[in-house]
Amino acid sequence: MLKLNRKIAQLKPSKSVTLMAKTKAMQQRDKSIINLTGGEPDFATPEKICEEAYLQMKSGFTHYTDGPGIPKLRQALAEKLRTENHAPYQEDQILVTPGAKYAVYLAVQAVLNPGDEAIWLAPGWVSYPSIIEASGGVPVAVHLKWEENYQITFDALEEAYSEKTRLLIINYPNNPTGKVLSPSDREAIAQFMRSHPDVLLLSDEIYEHIIYTGYEAVSMASVPDLFERTIIVNGFSKSFAMTGWRLGYLACSYEIFSVVMKLFQHTISCTSGFLQMAAVTALGCSEDTEKMRREYEKRRNLLYEGIRRLPGADMLKPEGAFYAWVKFDLGMNSEEVCNYLLEEGKIAGVPGIAYGEEEKVCVRFSYAASETELRRMLKNLEALLTKKKR
Ligand code: PMP
Repeated sequence: MLKLNRKIAQLKPSKSVTLMAKTKAMQQRDKSIINLTGGEPDFATPEKICEEAYLQMKSGFTHYTDGPGIPKLRQALAEKLRTENHAPYQEDQILVTPGAKYAVYLAVQAVLNPGDEAIWLAPGWVSYPSIIEASGGVPVAVHLKWEENYQITFDALEEAYSEKTRLLIINYPNNPTGKVLSPSDREAIAQFMRSHPDVLLLSDEIYEHIIYTGYEAVSMASVPDLFERTIIVNGFSKSFAMTGWRLGYLACSYEIFSVVMKLFQHTISCTSGFLQMAAVTALGCSEDTEKMRREYEKRRNLLYEGIRRLPGADMLKPEGAFYAWVKFDLGMNSEEVCNYLLEEGKIAGVPGIAYGEEEKVCVRFSYAASETELRRMLKNLEALLTKKKR
């Protein structure tokens, strides 16, 4: 037996990534499978963005670039963070990374020492606990509750706190529940952060532009006394349908930035210049983002109205992001429900247990899929659930 890195070898594979690949392979054999596993916009990257990358590539912008990001993009991001998020980071506090996922990894690595604890909120994105473990830290889940509409309370955060807590990770709009931060959630987080001055806050805001009528995405970095301790992570994958471009960024205090940069320099050096120039163009594509957002909102309404009337299923109304978080009451656990839906109904979703939902049986369905597919999903689901009830 080889002696490999135990910490990494013991990490659980990412369920959503594995399931997405498995379902894609199954679709090759069976075209009728409805794949709702992936967190991947089904829209093409807007033409203008592709065009800019192509022009830049042709003009020879194909070599190493300034490590933390080209000035034009960092300036544009600083402007965006200041005006849209009320988070006044300077351009030299912004690091352009290959995807938001790597930005989360860099930030967690930079903050934690072995044995330090990092709190994450469950249900939450599958990669947080694994990234914490890979960084030598200990993930501590705060289990938010379906029946409380997954609201955050100071008491729940406080219960998870120990002397070893160094980091709180939040993600709103949320994957998988679709919740956004309510004023009371924000107050609970602020109260917790004020009670523990040596804890840092990592705010993953990757779904900020996919937000539905009546809701707003407010960044915790806009709270003046929390600004210095907040690390914002964001990226281009979801807002601009650029998952395959692998472009994200983080913004943080100078002190954290200098540590993050050390790891970045030795692992990545820089991201590609022609992609970064296209990302500058992307930041001016809010009309395209809005078109996609409106489409997601239509699909959200379709699923919400369709699923809530089915026997044995209930759905949380998504306030942002593009996931339907559906609770099933079929006498099976979430993995069994997913197998059942796939085998009997040709519907592929991700089991709630992958997101740390242990109490209720939930499944995440991505509605970054065409309306036709979603209507087919509803039809199949209705047939299955009504049959099951009889
Ligand atoms: N954070 C969350 C909450 C996500 O859902 C995802 C994508 N599934 C990411 C980060 C990673 O995004 P990127 O493609 O930029 O790495």
